[in-house]
Amino acid sequence: MSTKEKKMIIFSAPSGSGKSTIINYLLKKGFPIEFSISATTREPRGTEKEGVEYYFLTLQEFKNRIKNDEFLEYEEVYENRFYGTLRSECERIWNEGKLVVFDVDVAGGIRLKKLFADKALAIFVKLPSIEELEQRLRKRNTESEEELQKRLAKASHEMTFSYMFDNVVLNDDLKSVCTQVEELVLNFLQ
Ligand code: ADP
Ligand code: 5GP
Repeated sequence: MSTKEKKMIIFSAPSGSGKSTIINYLLKKGFPIEFSISATTREPRGTEKEGVEYYFLTLQEFKNRIKNDEFLEYEEVYENRFYGTLRSECERIWNEGKLVVFDVDVAGGIRLKKLFADKALAIFVKLPSIEELEQRLRKRNTESEEELQKRLAKASHEMTFSYMFDNVVLNDDLKSVCTQVEELVLNFLQ
């Protein structure tokens, strides 16, 4: 499978909803997709490496790139924590004949969907409840209490924008959400 069209799949949802888990499933299944590596001003966590999960930039470096118009979109997702999609990432991935996959916050997802319209499949990943989201974030154990609270505080607001996406999938049972997303991607590729 490969694609000559410049297409993309956008995954948006509150942090902890399962976007990375679902994207990893699609990668394992061999879909011709590649993750767009975002730039961020947050610190690496756990085993994260420069140029793998993110390009980790200082605030000054990030601002320079804004000035140079290097971002397709960027957001101050949390106070003083900037995240942005680099134009160069899309070109790199499309040149390989693959679809670009984005894991972005809800505002970024809506912006990318507006920019790319029917070239983009925009999927919102929903959880059964905020309590479940809190449990998953605690179990993932990758944030400090303060960072975790920031994510939870933002989540309820983000959930109200799900209607702006092409599809909303419920990540209750992991196997069933993965199958559902797989079907959506297969249809989009046809
Ligand atoms: P995101 O990329 O949206 O921040 P992750 O993919 O990191 O979210 O998922 C958050 C946590 O929830 C991870 O520890 C992941 O293993 C777990 N998780 C994902 N989907 C499910 C599910 N259906 N049931 C239980 N735990 C899940
Ligand atoms: P995390 O710190 O958990 O990796 O990511 C926090 C949030 O930032 C998540 O909701 C994630 O989707 C979002 N995010 C990551 N990269 C980007 C990006 O390039 N643009 C935007 N708008 N959000 C992003």
